[in-house]
Amino acid sequence: MNPKRIRTLEPGEPESGPVAYWMSRDQRVEDNWALLFARGIAEGAGVPLVVIFCIVDEFLGAGLRQYQFMLEGLQEVKRSLSLKNIPLMFLRGSPGEEIPSFSDKYGIGTLVTDFSPLRPKREWTEKTALKLEIPFYEVDAHNIVPCWVASGKQEYAAYTFRPKVNALLPEFLVEFPELEPNSEFPETFAGKKAGGKKEGWEKRGDAGEKIDVNEAEESPRGRNTEELLPERLKVEDADPYFEPGHFVPGESAALEVLETFLTERLDSYSALHNDPTKDGSSDLSPYLHFGQVSAQRVALEVEKARVGEDSKAAFLEQLIVRRELTDNFCYYNQAYDSFESFPAWAKETLNVHRQDRREYLYTREELEFAKTHDPLWNASQVQLLSTGKMHGYMRMYWAKKIIEWSESPEKALKTAIYLNDRYELDGRDPNGYVGILWSIGGLHDRAWREREVFGKLRYMNYSGARRKFDVDAYVARYLSDE
Ligand SMILES: Cc1cc2nc3c(=O)[nH]c(=O)nc-3n(C[C@H](O)[C@H](O)[C@H](O)COP(=O)(O)OP(=O)(O)OC[C@H]3O[C@@H](n4cnc5c(N)ncnc54)[C@H](O)[C@@H]3O)c2cc1C
Repeated sequence: MNPKRIRTLEPGEPESGPVAYWMSRDQRVEDNWALLFARGIAEGAGVPLVVIFCIVDEFLGAGLRQYQFMLEGLQEVKRSLSLKNIPLMFLRGSPGEEIPSFSDKYGIGTLVTDFSPLRPKREWTEKTALKLEIPFYEVDAHNIVPCWVASGKQEYAAYTFRPKVNALLPEFLVEFPELEPNSEFPETFAGKKAGGKKEGWEKRGDAGEKIDVNEAEESPRGRNTEELLPERLKVEDADPYFEPGHFVPGESAALEVLETFLTERLDSYSALHNDPTKDGSSDLSPYLHFGQVSAQRVALEVEKARVGEDSKAAFLEQLIVRRELTDNFCYYNQAYDSFESFPAWAKETLNVHRQDRREYLYTREELEFAKTHDPLWNASQVQLLSTGKMHGYMRMYWAKKIIEWSESPEKALKTAIYLNDRYELDGRDPNGYVGILWSIGGLHDRAWREREVFGKLRYMNYSGARRKFDVDAYVARYLSDE
């Protein structure tokens, strides 16, 4: 594999112990450069490979819906890995503590992890590196062009990033090799075989216990998540608005969604993806967010598809340029979720308009439960609450209205991030922070005609939406009493 994808966090010769891949952002078995790299080292050193996943009790405001989606996906990862004689071990607690203590306990010889530009993973990785004395590598398994290769600085906008990333695609947009199995299942990691009770989940920080894979297999997918949920997660007990079933979690479900998109919707993507009444987009974002499908696999399959070039180009622009630009921003700007990180012109214009009269002001609760005067906005919030994924066009309108109806840009930003991360299955992602900053902070955008409250930020309104699509049909779909 291309060595530019790998960074050495802790140098050294591989020690004699097993190789561990600390899976975090890229929760899949197929098409995973970090897993492939770890397997390659294990092969070369003649030692087994083990995969570890550390479950934290709280992650950026994620709720029950996201934990369920993730944990069910991980069940499938565990099953698929075990078919290759590769154990998947679950740890509980803070990764900065748990990963080094696991490494000590099992005499791990080399550690590999995947890359995320977000602060929590960076902090865990730094803490782990400080405590370890074995070779430790980081692999960008999420971006097609590794984030640090695509650009060495924070890009100004898509038009400055596009030529850089596109020029590097021939080098990085290549097929994946097969993942080789361990020669046998390493018994050291078999742990205690879990019985009917989920002991592995319940014992905090007890490295090495297994979830009962067989039990998960017996239950129909999507039915057994409550049983799997760790009791001590800091999430609410119920999610009454959520209708599970819109998005089936896991790697094989992700490939099915991709296949359906390629055969039924890719050809009309360019024409329909911005119409919230048409279901014209791929619906891949929850799977991409949790790494249940590789963006590189998606791009390779789209390239092969026999559909119009305009739709392919429009889709790859979103999947590659827009998506990888968001990692670029968060990686080079660690204040990615604050007013401070807005471009200077946007901060200036928003400061000028701080005292403007707001026609409507809503509390976070009124927004959260879709209680505004605007049926279009309420419908989009209901789509989010009930399905876990708001349509992409409506996300822009939704965030623009939050700034219009908040006392300050800081409050708007906080509310939008809270709602996005709490309810979007694909939230807590660089795409989310950048999407919100684009809407509320002019990031990667330019100045427009000045107006009240917004200053020179791009404006969106109800009549503009009416000109673009059938607003009534969208509202009727989510607000049955309108
Ligand atoms: C206010 C706001 C909040 C957003 N929050 C998130 C979020 O939390 N998570 C998230 O993944 N996306 C977010 N987006 C970006 C975008 O709206 C979603 O990625 C898209 O709607 C997901 O649906 P899809 O997979 O069907 O998209 P498709 O149109 O099928 O696009 C395919 C993929 O391309 C990427 N993509 C598409 N549009 C964008 C974009 N504007 N910026 C970056 N990447 C893009 C996504 O990975 C997406 O899955 C946000 C946008 C805005 C304006």
